[in-house]
Formats: sequence, C-alpha cells, structure tokens
Amino acid sequence: MQSTSPSEAFPAQTPAVAQIFTTVLSHGPLTRSEVAERTGLSAAAVTKAVRPLIEAGYLVEDADDTRRALGRPANPVRVDGGRALFVGVKATGDELIGVLTDLCCRIRVARHLPLTDPDPRPVLAAITELVQELLTEAEGFGVPVLGLGLAVSGDVDRAQGIVRYSPFLGWSEVPLAELAVMTCGLPVTVENDVRALTVAEQWFGAGVGLSDFAVVTVGAGIGCGLVVHGQVVAGAHGVAGEIGHVAIDPAGPKCRCGNRGCVEAIAADAAILDRIREATGLEVADTAQAVDLARQGHPGAREVYAAAGEAIGRGIATVANLFGPQRVIISGEGLAAYDLFAEQIRDTFTAYAFGSAAQCDVQTRPLPFEEWARGAAATAIQSFIRSD
Ligand SMILES: [Zn+2]
Repeated sequence: MQSTSPSEAFPAQTPAVAQIFTTVLSHGPLTRSEVAERTGLSAAAVTKAVRPLIEAGYLVEDADDTRRALGRPANPVRVDGGRALFVGVKATGDELIGVLTDLCCRIRVARHLPLTDPDPRPVLAAITELVQELLTEAEGFGVPVLGLGLAVSGDVDRAQGIVRYSPFLGWSEVPLAELAVMTCGLPVTVENDVRALTVAEQWFGAGVGLSDFAVVTVGAGIGCGLVVHGQVVAGAHGVAGEIGHVAIDPAGPKCRCGNRGCVEAIAADAAILDRIREATGLEVADTAQAVDLARQGHPGAREVYAAAGEAIGRGIATVANLFGPQRVIISGEGLAAYDLFAEQIRDTFTAYAFGSAAQCDVQTRPLPFEEWARGAAATAIQSFIRSD
C-alpha cells in the first residue's frame, strides 16, 4: 500500500536498516558502536546503513566536542523527529481517536470524533474526516505526512490490509487499507489495535529493552499483544495471542465467538454487566454503575468482579506458560475497576503459572486511547521504514 514519492522513500528498506533505525528511535542518541552492540550487527554494517539515513535527513549526528576531546570521535546519532509526520487512528465501538505524530512518534495533535454508526461506510467517512482535519493541522509543520495507521479490534490481516472479522464493529472481510488509501491519499497500514499498542509499548513504553513481553488489555474486550524475540507476533492466521477466547469454564456463560466460558465471556465489560444484573436483579445501566455497586460492597457485584479477576489471571498465566515473557503489561479501560479484581488476578496468576513462569513481572499501566492511536501511527512508521 506504499505510494510515497521517491524523494520521501526510506533508504534501503532492509530488515537490518529497520532494526538500526528502531534501535536509535527507542534508545537514541547512540554512537554507531552502541548501535552495533545493541543490534548484534557489525560496526561496518551499522556505519554503512547510517550514512544514507543521515543524508536523507532521517537521522542526525550531534556534534559533540566534549566526546572528541575525550578521544571518542564517533558522535551519537538520533532520529530527527521533525523530518516527517504520521497519522494514527484507533477505532472503538463509538469513537475515533486520531493523532498526528512526528517521526519519533511524539504526539503533536490529538482529535476525537464520535462514531454513530459502526458500518464500514460511515466509519470510513468519519476516518476520512478526522484524517483531513489532522492533515490540515499538519500544514503548519511544513514537513510531509508520510503514512496513516489504522487500529481496529479483532482479526486483522495487516499484510493484505483487510479487517477479517471485528465483532465490535460487526465487520467481516472489509478491505480497509484499500478504501482508506482512496479517501485519505496516504499509504495505509491496518493493524489489530492491541498489536498496535504493543508496538508503542515496545518502542517507547514498558517494553523498551525487553525481547519477550506481552500486553494484555481488559475492557470492552480482552486482548493480548505478544513480543517474542523482539518481534510483535501475529501468527500464521493473524490471531496469535487471543487470550480472550481461551476457554476456562466449559459450563460458563456463552461467548460471542459461539463457545462457552471464554475469558472474554466472564471478564469483558459487557459480560461483567450482564452477570451483575443477573446476580443482583438490579437495573445496572453501565460499567460505571456496576463499579459503584461493587465498591459499595454489594456481595453479588463483588463476586462477579472477583470471578472476572480469576479469569484474567488464568488468561495471563496461560500466556506466561506458553511464551515465558519477562513482563506482562496489563492495560485497557477496564483498569478503572482494577481495585475490584487486582488481588484475584495476582493470586490466580501465581496459582496457575508453571514453575519459573511465575517470575514474570506483572505490571499495570493505564494508557489512554491516544496511546493506542499513537501505536497506530507507530505501525505506519514501521511500514514506512521497512518493505512489508
Ligand atoms: Zn470466545
């Protein structure tokens, strides 16, 4: 889906160059030998890759006379954030969150737009409107916008740019990249929203410097992004890490996927709400009210949150047992209720994590939807620097 003009093309879209660039992006400024050390590439390979990146203005070398005085002639290089701009958009069930970022993926402008109709056509129209608004803002920066990243929940085929199945939006087989290229006029990358967030965490967040970690999101759905050996894993069918559909109770409530007792059928926001209504017989309007009820000590509501925490804890233990990540980062809008199930998540995780997997560091990180949109922009930067 790349249609960048030759003058803006990234020099040598090889895996090594992409690795060098993202290493400088996450850890820079770095000297060439520090880059070589971190990437495991030879100093000669790094020097060769860095030169055209400096010539094209994507990396800059800082003149540092102190280093020279100390007999270290190699100046550190860093990414020139102001060289280019990118747009990232995250779609939730009822809202679009869009950000304009620089090449360092720093958010320069953020905008929200409500979604009234989840059908592909109106959502595409809303995406186009939001992107146009951000492109207008971009004019003030005087540098080109080189890509658009779109983050959508569900089964997303990034290589083909197709949303295979998104239960939240009720989409199946939507060629979103192709459609958005036509209406937005930018190269488009479409990625699963949790994987997009995972890229942002890997480059700038709690995953920096880790070769193996997972991001587990709780809220409207239960998602999971996996990084194995430094790579965000999509799997052969694009659905790697679907812990929301790990079945933990065959007699449990029915899931949207058609099975019973999935983690998502017990611990997603809508599932919690349904079960609290059932358990208490009360008209609970929304998640905020459900949280209030549980915090006031209503036993039925508290039990439902405790069961949700156990389900999430078992899901995280499954991830730890299968992939052995150094860290699991729990995030998502569901963290607003974290005090109601934190203990159960930790206890269940410890009980089900096998052997050394229990040493995995489980962290919580409240990340606003702008951060997910930033992840979408990060996927656009990824596509720009490497030929997908
Ligand atoms: Zn399911």
